[in-house]
Amino acid sequence: MGSYREQGIVLRSYKLGETDRIVHLLGQRHGKVRAVAKGVRRPGSRFGGRLETFSHVDLQLYEGRNLDMITQADLIASHAEVRTDFAASAAGSVMVELVDAVAQEGEHDHALFLLLRAGLQALDAGPDDPAVFVDAFLLRAAGALGFRAFTDACAVCRRTGRHAFLSVKAGGTLCPDCAPTGTRAVDAEVVDVVALLAAAGEWASLPGSARERPQAHRTAASYVRAFVEHHLDRQLRSYPSVPRA
Ligand SMILES: [Zn+2]
Repeated sequence: MGSYREQGIVLRSYKLGETDRIVHLLGQRHGKVRAVAKGVRRPGSRFGGRLETFSHVDLQLYEGRNLDMITQADLIASHAEVRTDFAASAAGSVMVELVDAVAQEGEHDHALFLLLRAGLQALDAGPDDPAVFVDAFLLRAAGALGFRAFTDACAVCRRTGRHAFLSVKAGGTLCPDCAPTGTRAVDAEVVDVVALLAAAGEWASLPGSARERPQAHRTAASYVRAFVEHHLDRQLRSYPSVPRA
């Protein structure tokens, strides 16, 4: 038992007793952390508003028998813009919902941490259409968890090329030989969009791409949702709240 430091991003929190909250965070070193913030709901609490959802904080924690205790929290990035803008907040909610569902306690996942931080940073600027950042985040998160969508090869026989058949179950594009009868063929543009959404680190070009090829983005977005819900085996409750053009 003792105290330790961690930095993390607040995923959600809920009331405990009269004045406390249980806070879920994605920690940079410890994976998911569930900890108690005592007195956080009292006016003038020492935590101020620093433990709000989306906040990136530097923490001092004390190990408890069941839940750890947050003894100090300093802000690294508040992401207040994401909380105050309706569309950005809805988009951010999908990101933290997925992370809260898949991150494991005591399991360091640096790729997921960096992805969440980048996703929230992309929303900080108050983009007109934050839905495209949700699509990219979901596909990249699935990739970080071991479910990478094939866009440059057939997901079954691995023959390289831009194939026209797109399958949720098989995990990406399929060549004509491997596509089961009834598999839907899509425009090459849709596969290009899925590839762009999956490309690590690529955020800046997403809004422009969504403006230029709205139909391909709509098709790709429904593919991404189905892909993530199938392979991660869960429904994303907050997904329908994200405004879509
Ligand atoms: Zn094939």
